[in-house]
Amino acid sequence: MTRIAPHSLAGSLAMLYVLTLATGCALTSHDRRRAELGVARPSSALLAVIDQPGPVELTTVVAADWAVERSGLINLDHPRAKAAGLQDGDEPIQVYFHVLRHPQRGLFAVDAGLERALGDHPDQSHISGMVRSKMNLEKLHLRTPLADWLSSHPAEPLRGVFLTHLHLDHSGGLVDLPAGTQLYVGPGEGAERALLNLFVQSSTDRALEGKAPLEELPFLPDADGRFEGVVDVFGDGSVWALLVPGHTQGSIALVVRTRQGPVLLTGDACHTRWGWEHDVEPGSFSSDRPRSAESLARLRRLAAEHPALEVRLGHQRLPVVKGARTAAGR
Ligand SMILES: [Zn+2]
Ligand SMILES: [Zn+2]
Repeated sequence: MTRIAPHSLAGSLAMLYVLTLATGCALTSHDRRRAELGVARPSSALLAVIDQPGPVELTTVVAADWAVERSGLINLDHPRAKAAGLQDGDEPIQVYFHVLRHPQRGLFAVDAGLERALGDHPDQSHISGMVRSKMNLEKLHLRTPLADWLSSHPAEPLRGVFLTHLHLDHSGGLVDLPAGTQLYVGPGEGAERALLNLFVQSSTDRALEGKAPLEELPFLPDADGRFEGVVDVFGDGSVWALLVPGHTQGSIALVVRTRQGPVLLTGDACHTRWGWEHDVEPGSFSSDRPRSAESLARLRRLAAEHPALEVRLGHQRLPVVKGARTAAGR
């Protein structure tokens, strides 16, 4: 057996520390596994049913009003942003979660918004003080945490949460949900290494603590090439997950076929109304801007080809357009 000298062990640990600092770490160390829920399908299977009303009830809830840096939300270096004279500064946004009720599968949330403590007791938040100090929290007005919404609708238990991605304004509300809550994400979501994660990992881990492992939806490359991957979530064509990487590696959007028609939940593949309307991808909050631009273009093409598709963006509402269903949060 090789004996490791103490000085070489110390040296190895120091090297490991330096390497961790150099390459960063994952957003979360929470366990993950492949989901048993969902079937990979080509996008043509989605297109075959997208314009037909479906069986799902969908409610979008404003969890909070907030303002964050425009340069994080919109790529201000994009020629169209420059031509429009967009400057950095506080951009008013909202934080949403969505609740979908499937007649057989029950009640699910899409994203979890922010936690209750950020309303009255930010010092008790699961988010570390250092991260909170960078969050512009003086501009945050908490309205309806997911846990409050669920306790005022106690008739049905929550079956799980689909997370468009794991950023804290989408996952933070999980901290108020019961242990064992099932969570579904895109492939590799939260596993990407980044320097910034050295500061955020502990907060994300606390949001997920006690919950079931992250279940990665079983995406395969889209045989039709329209998206990177498409999953028929319940296997009945009612709810579809689209793989739209760029904002984060495992970002997903969802198409929900409601009784009133189809709704696209973009997640942070597009944060703002301006970004959607001008085809300009998110800014510095995204890990891979060229990929996020490609994912945004794919979603905009889907919406352009299916005018009945109502689009609900990550952090702002679209206006009601006569003859089209493009308003968020109705
Ligand atoms: Zn995000
Ligand atoms: Zn967000």
